[in-house]
Amino acid sequence: TIYNLGSINADYVYDVPHLPAGGETIAATAHRVGLGGKGANQSVAARLAGAEVRHIGAVGADGRWAVERLRGFGVDVAHVAEVGGPTAHAIINVDPQGENMIVLLAGANALQDEARIGAALADAGPGDTLLLQNETTCQLSAAQRAGACGMRVIYSAAPFQAEAVKQMLPLTTILVLNEVEAAQLSDTLGGRMLPDMIVTRGARGASWAVRGGETVEIPAFAVEAVDTTGAGDCFIGSVAACLDLGMGREEALRYGAAAAALQVSRPGTADAMPPRDEVLAFLGR
Ligand code: ADP
Repeated sequence: TIYNLGSINADYVYDVPHLPAGGETIAATAHRVGLGGKGANQSVAARLAGAEVRHIGAVGADGRWAVERLRGFGVDVAHVAEVGGPTAHAIINVDPQGENMIVLLAGANALQDEARIGAALADAGPGDTLLLQNETTCQLSAAQRAGACGMRVIYSAAPFQAEAVKQMLPLTTILVLNEVEAAQLSDTLGGRMLPDMIVTRGARGASWAVRGGETVEIPAFAVEAVDTTGAGDCFIGSVAACLDLGMGREEALRYGAAAAALQVSRPGTADAMPPRDEVLAFLGR
């Protein structure tokens, strides 16, 4: 089972003729609201890849629909709390060239609770996975609990925060970074002993450097990308699910690359993530 302490965001997307300048008011030409947040995206990807997923998180009363969306994907939401204050949200302005401008409010994502996390992890043990990103609070204590009960800890250090990563490293089984984050890590930590590390490089694939051992490289699949938002989340959630289900490194990376290739070839984030059958068909199985 995957336990994901993760963000749940409402994405408010506005199509605008151009990105607004200071003091300017412009009219949006279209508007949509979707489920977002790295945490929620990774839960959806992991669930679609076939893992049991229990999401641990928080929303405000205005976020019940987002929890229902997660539930609709088959994610267990028993440990998603409703707290006072707003659900995390992103105001995303997109211009005709696809350039964007984003304002993010952490809201309920910053109101995680140690007792709730402890209750959620009460049944977890060796063979289970704790998935973490940097969009919530309480990652450190969650990772400590997970380590104490023998769980695998997969930590996606995004958005990158040097201090958080430093503290998390000794508690992490597998650190996952994209290319930009990997560069930020080597700037801050050069030389320190690292755990297993997966680095994703967009259309140039991904690699898994085993602590003190080999590096497994996996190329990306050649597809026409129309929207790469959430590619990393799709890849990470999928790989985490495969590992949780007992697959080996290479097979898990291949599955993740295939899922992400399908996801980037159509518009959308969580809604563009492919179910297991589609990924297996793509892989010719
Ligand atoms: P992030 O979204 O975190 O920046 P990446 O862009 O590195 O993550 O993408 C994660 C994975 O998704 C890549 O390792 C690759 O397997 C897949 N992927 C991303 N972009 C493409 C693309 N244009 N074509 C095919 N696969 C892609």
